[in-house]
Amino acid sequence: KHSDGKYMVTLIEGDGIGPEIAQSVKDIFSAANAPIKWESVDVTPILKDGKTAIPDAAIDSVKRNYVALKGPLATPVGKGHVSLNLTLRRTFNLFANVRPCKSIQGFKTPYDGVDTVLIRENTEGEYSGIEHVVVDGVVQSIKLITKEASERVLRFAFQYAQEVNKPKVRAVHKATIMKMSDGLFLNLARDISKEYPNVEFDAELLDNACLKIVSDPSPYNDKVLVMPNLYGDILSDMCAGLIGGLGLTPSGNIGDECSIFEAVHGSAPDIAGQGLANPTALLLSSIMMLQHMGLFEHADRIQAAIFKTLAEGKTITGDLGGKAKTHEYAAAVIKNL
Ligand code: NAD
Repeated sequence: KHSDGKYMVTLIEGDGIGPEIAQSVKDIFSAANAPIKWESVDVTPILKDGKTAIPDAAIDSVKRNYVALKGPLATPVGKGHVSLNLTLRRTFNLFANVRPCKSIQGFKTPYDGVDTVLIRENTEGEYSGIEHVVVDGVVQSIKLITKEASERVLRFAFQYAQEVNKPKVRAVHKATIMKMSDGLFLNLARDISKEYPNVEFDAELLDNACLKIVSDPSPYNDKVLVMPNLYGDILSDMCAGLIGGLGLTPSGNIGDECSIFEAVHGSAPDIAGQGLANPTALLLSSIMMLQHMGLFEHADRIQAAIFKTLAEGKTITGDLGGKAKTHEYAAAVIKNL
């Protein structure tokens, strides 16, 4: 916090639609007098000892400010540098990825009244990046599950459940097949649940969870779902589909010291630069950020304006069936503040 009462936050605008949706956040925050000063940093990767790395200036900024808002970063498929998103998560040890998925009142989507929270292990599992060719035509990819990373994300899930008044934690797994790796995760979840007697605990197989959620999401509203990395990646996109798509779903990457908030979606190269992007997901991520910083009044006020604009349905972007440009939607939110 600075002497002028404002908090410095690192802003990574990102690729593709990133700068367009970041502009909406900046405009709305400034209209709402949110006490945030943005420190924009460039994360174009550099090579350090032959490895892809994030420029020191960007790392220093996040370390100094503890909190960052991040636009999407494009990852080349196959060869090339390692995903910058993964690099950021590893650099700052952002061990838990929190993905709430809440229906917006008045905005009609395939399902009503969805209010799920999914917590994804963010540092290992199938995303460890340990892959190699065994012999020509045979590739091995290693899913790494450790006690340390599992305990960390599981404890966070139980604490989060208490804080947000969702008194049940459910571990989602495939321990029937991956008996050792998911088995370790599940056993640790059972052990840790004993430390939280006020929170109910149970477990569900991933395939069953998918089937049940799309059949009727309402039984999941009082639960926090916690799971290994890949399952969380896929299941959270599925949940996004229940409430109107990727344009609406925020997330927070939580670490011991620093936290980075970002939309669930990617850089949307198909619509970049055309003013068509929906900034709501990044906006709702910035609301999670304000809540994380304890700035609840500003969070509530901006969130109410967003929900009102969406429910009015007059000035919404193309992905939600409207015709508004990104900046027109942002202007409507500002009017509703
Ligand atoms: P994507 O999320 O960028 O796009 C999927 C579809 O959703 C596209 O049709 C896109 O136009 C639409 N969409 C996404 N966000 C939108 C928004 N805010 N408003 C309106 N429509 C929106 O997924 P992709 O095409 O698979 O990935 C593109 C790039 O983004 C890839 O390089 C990928 O690696 C990267 N990516 C980054 C992140 C991240 O930074 N956290 C997450 C996912 C993907």
